[in-house]
Amino acid sequence: MAETTPSRSKYTGSCLCGTVRWTSTTEPNFSGYCCCNSCRKASGSGFVPFMGFPASSLTITNTSNLQQYTSLSDSGTPAVRNFCINCGSLIFGGEYAVDDEHTVYAGTLDDASLFKPKAAIFDSERPEWVELPEGIKRIPKM
Ligand SMILES: [Zn+2]
Ligand SMILES: [Zn+2]
Repeated sequence: MAETTPSRSKYTGSCLCGTVRWTSTTEPNFSGYCCCNSCRKASGSGFVPFMGFPASSLTITNTSNLQQYTSLSDSGTPAVRNFCINCGSLIFGGEYAVDDEHTVYAGTLDDASLFKPKAAIFDSERPEWVELPEGIKRIPKM
């Protein structure tokens, strides 16, 4: 008889202070870099590494410790970013318990090696000082 081990996701993460934690029961639907100007400004870095998860697979704890900031994307749609009010870490995009899918900031992973970026979106806005990994797909806009 096959031994059944409870499936426990490897995809877990938190903000810097650890107050807000997330867990996904599934692997990400997509993984990439967003090189848009908004992500650059929001992160204070060259791009945002992100993973897309269906909301149904994602659990986020201590959401009362989150604050949202909404900016307009290039296409004019609102982009919501959630950050920890204690430590300021950006954690994920989208409205929790409202949206069907979320982009989780890959830097919040407990095990950073799980992130396997496949594409760079908004490559047309990427600063020259950001080098992309070899073989990554470059998408000029979305
Ligand atoms: Zn925090
Ligand atoms: Zn972006």
